[in-house]
Amino acid sequence: MTTEVINVKELHKVDPVFGQISFDNHEQIVFCNDKDTGLKAIIGIHNTVLGPALGGTRMWKYANEWEALNDVLRLSRGMTYKSAISGLNLGGGKAVIIGDSKLDKTPELITKFGEYVNSLSGKYITAEDVGTTTPDMDLIRQSTPYVTGISEAIGGSGNPSPVTAYGVYMGMKAAVKYQFGSEKLEGKKVLVQGIGHVGETLVDFLSKEGALVQITDINESRLEEVSKKYGATIFRGDDLYAADVDIYAPCALGATVNDDTINRIKAKVIAGAANNQLANEVIHGQILKEKGILYAPDFLINAGGIINVYGEIAKYDKAEAMRRTENIYNTTLAIFELANSKGLTTHQAAFAMAEERIEQRKKENAK
Ligand code: NAD
Repeated sequence: MTTEVINVKELHKVDPVFGQISFDNHEQIVFCNDKDTGLKAIIGIHNTVLGPALGGTRMWKYANEWEALNDVLRLSRGMTYKSAISGLNLGGGKAVIIGDSKLDKTPELITKFGEYVNSLSGKYITAEDVGTTTPDMDLIRQSTPYVTGISEAIGGSGNPSPVTAYGVYMGMKAAVKYQFGSEKLEGKKVLVQGIGHVGETLVDFLSKEGALVQITDINESRLEEVSKKYGATIFRGDDLYAADVDIYAPCALGATVNDDTINRIKAKVIAGAANNQLANEVIHGQILKEKGILYAPDFLINAGGIINVYGEIAKYDKAEAMRRTENIYNTTLAIFELANSKGLTTHQAAFAMAEERIEQRKKENAK
């Protein structure tokens, strides 16, 4: 018997892969190494009960391999729940390439990565993510059919951001209906934080419906441009979280709902595109619930992008992708009802609903 006391911080050294918290029962993890091209990549396949594991490839200059492994595990798990809650027949997966996309990316390295994806025979399907581009996906397409997000010219679905924005708009309407009794956004004060690819299209939808839109971004010239184009007001206050608005739409960075901001938020609805908006899903989800602020789960309402690329697996049909994205409205409402009836946070309810779908399919598959 060992008398050694294990330091929690050192646990990763005891169980390097299966013992990681973010491992969370991943089905398979593939480490890819190619000496000639310098490729070092990890493909995480979290769960394939509902279908092939689809998720993008991130190329990032990780500080160390632990960080890369942890990132791929965390992201691929997230994809399982995003696809499940969106009603897609997809599992969750993700890949990371270790390296600086500006300095280390070569056509040979991307091609080699495509060969690794191909070796999994469709169990994992890749797509674009931070540090990879549509041309990279087109290149991968030359080594494997298991890639989405390729150019429209070669049968792809093109830029997913407008579809993502439409899903956020649908989720926001559902939240407004639940919180204020009507789905109408006309006259509602909305603060959109981040007016990039998704945020700008969201501003377009909101302005067309007569919402009173305020915008904030670190990019001044974008602010002027979007303000002029859609008649949105530029937020000039000191504290955007304390802004006197009905809806706060985070469309820039994650973790903006955190210990520092949560008690200042005046909005009664949070609905935006950013991933991982709650710095701590459990604690901040609970505080929002207690404060009566309705949070539309990010991984559901920003799923338009994956719904769009999902269409590429058979033959891309834009109308079908938009119809599925529109359904985010119904699913969001169902999550609020479930959360209310079971005393859960909306985030917990969304997870529970996704898990139930996976369990149900598991039983059907076993028959
Ligand atoms: P983007 O890079 O085009 O836009 C982000 C915008 O946020 C930029 O205008 C940037 O200047 C601004 N920004 C950055 N830091 C900021 C800060 N501290 N305060 C205010 N503004 C800041 O990104 P995008 O494609 O529009 O995506 C927005 C968010 O939605 C991201 O978190 C992304 O992960 C998430 N998301 C996007 C998609 C998609 O289809 N594009 C799908 C799912 C989730």
